Amino acid sequence: MAKKNDSKDKKSNPFNLYWLYGFILTFFLITIFLNPISDTKEITMLQFEQTMLSQGDVQKIVVVNKEVAEIYIKPDRLSEKKFEDVSKKANAQTGPQYIIKIGSIESFESKIDKAQEDIALNEKVGVQYEDRYNWTDSISWLLPLLIIVVFWIFILRRMRMGGMGGSMMNFGKSTAKLSNIDTKSKVTFDDVAGLKEAKVEIMEVVDFLKNPGEYTKLGAKIPKGILLTGPPGTGKTLLARAVAGEAQVPFFSLSGSEFVEMFVGVGASRVRDLFKQAKAKAPSIIFIDEIDAVGRSRDQAKSFQSNDERENTLNQLLAELDGFGANTGVIVLAATNRVDILDKALLRAGRFDRHIYLELPTKIERVEIFNVHLKSIKMDETVDVELLASLTPGFSGADIANICNEAALLAARKKKDVVSQIDFTQARDRVVGGLERSSKIISPKEKLIVAHHEAGHAVTSWHLPHVDSLVKVSIIPRGKSLGAAWYLPEERLIVTKSQFMDQICALLGGRAAEEVIFGEISSGALDDLEKVTKQAYGMVAYYGMDDNIGPLSFYDSSGQYQSMLSKPYSEEMGKQIDKEVHHLITTQYERAKDILTKHKDELKELAQLLLDKEVADKEDLVQILGKRKAKELLKIEE
Ligand code: ADP
Repeated sequence: MAKKNDSKDKKSNPFNLYWLYGFILTFFLITIFLNPISDTKEITMLQFEQTMLSQGDVQKIVVVNKEVAEIYIKPDRLSEKKFEDVSKKANAQTGPQYIIKIGSIESFESKIDKAQEDIALNEKVGVQYEDRYNWTDSISWLLPLLIIVVFWIFILRRMRMGGMGGSMMNFGKSTAKLSNIDTKSKVTFDDVAGLKEAKVEIMEVVDFLKNPGEYTKLGAKIPKGILLTGPPGTGKTLLARAVAGEAQVPFFSLSGSEFVEMFVGVGASRVRDLFKQAKAKAPSIIFIDEIDAVGRSRDQAKSFQSNDERENTLNQLLAELDGFGANTGVIVLAATNRVDILDKALLRAGRFDRHIYLELPTKIERVEIFNVHLKSIKMDETVDVELLASLTPGFSGADIANICNEAALLAARKKKDVVSQIDFTQARDRVVGGLERSSKIISPKEKLIVAHHEAGHAVTSWHLPHVDSLVKVSIIPRGKSLGAAWYLPEERLIVTKSQFMDQICALLGGRAAEEVIFGEISSGALDDLEKVTKQAYGMVAYYGMDDNIGPLSFYDSSGQYQSMLSKPYSEEMGKQIDKEVHHLITTQYERAKDILTKHKDELKELAQLLLDKEVADKEDLVQILGKRKAKELLKIEE
């Protein structure tokens, strides 16, 4: 209803304004045209003295504003020939018939006196003075002003109508998109695969809104805010959209960055407006995506730069969250993948009381997510969803959606009618490693090094018990890398010390192979070395896995030390950590070299195969390296 009224107002407005413009314009035109002076003839002083004044034709002289003298001729003389030219004019009878521009009043008066010297006293004409308001003069300053006013009104009206983005007049207004029951999103909970616990929690919220009585009668308070956190692409936004689709209540959604504008005070007023709108439509849900844009911790921001505007917005948000009672029927959903940088005040109970953590999907969940996204894809029976799910550990829902889409695109490029398993595996490789660049030119010598480097990774990991199984080795350049070894990682939540050690050893296998075969090392191991160094520091300084340093962790989950740019340990300890890391890596490097020297023939054979075929798959690996004994050994141990 309110909307309709608005539009009516807008329609009637232009009429009123145009009437006003018209009125002002006619007024000015009338004053200009009706100005009597505009219809009078101008003559010189000399003419006046000789032909009129001295002849006694003049009835009166009126000096207006000390500038112009109006001359009124006696009506009975007007018929004379010399007045022929003025007697036909509209104001001929009433006068004035002539005007004279005068320099100074004194000289004007003396000239008049002189001219009337010979005339009898009672016949003499005196000079009257008058001050008149002159409209024509006013126009000279009124017109520009009027033009400015009209232009200003025009701009304002354009903005209000949304002609210029609609944001200038409404910048304090919330930009939240409202999806009503009738315009609600089409996403339902069925489109959200996995995330069982999160779905239960969030469905409960929808239920709170629908039947608040059931909860409040037992004295329970309905939560005000729910924070969805988790790595990017885990479906936070999707879940919120599903809530909008399922809940039969108005749903306001906007992104945190929309609060932050370059104008001071806009953010706060937007927050106020958003909550006002939501309350008016209660029960309703507000969804703020990427809340970290406004909710960034105030202490952290201070240390480097201060952003008062963001702080004001955050304060307003906190105030609004506190301000509405538990029963007003507004629930705030917010999503972020940087919960660590959020202000603590925002996280406390009473504001965002509930935190729902969305994790990266497990294998079973990945199967479900694949199934959701495969629904719309035409595929043949070769597609093995289970295998795809096991090939994609650590992938988020968004990555999986991306793989499905890439696979369909790849199949379309090959002009196939259906998408098959090979397209999916290629799409996965592409998502992980980047685009294959077969056209990248590598010299034969470099190719030789890359082949031995990759074979080195393969051989070491094959003979190490705690490394994931190897599926494929390739020396086709892809993205930035010149070759790659693909593993089938196990689902695991914790990593043991032996697993860490073996991983480091396998990562160093490439560099070790170069040394064992050529006695010369190359820059190609940069990526591996970076990973190894980070992992080793993690083991020693974070996971407390070093024997000499013991179970100490300098991990800083609060990010305090990071912002202070200092280390949480002494210089002495720093030296010790460096020493242990160095020791750990060199030991593993020697170990890798030992393995490769022992299996030098296999290494050479595999490298040769890679040079011939570019890709070695599982069968090739088994043929050259034999069945993977290491894994069997491990099984017996278990
Ligand atoms: P974020 O957590 O970063 O907000 P989104 O919700 O935007 O992630 O997810 C991006 C895309 O990933 C979604 O549009 C959807 O296609 C896909 N996706 C993520 N999680 C899931 C899931 N659990 N089920 C189905 N699709 C998912």
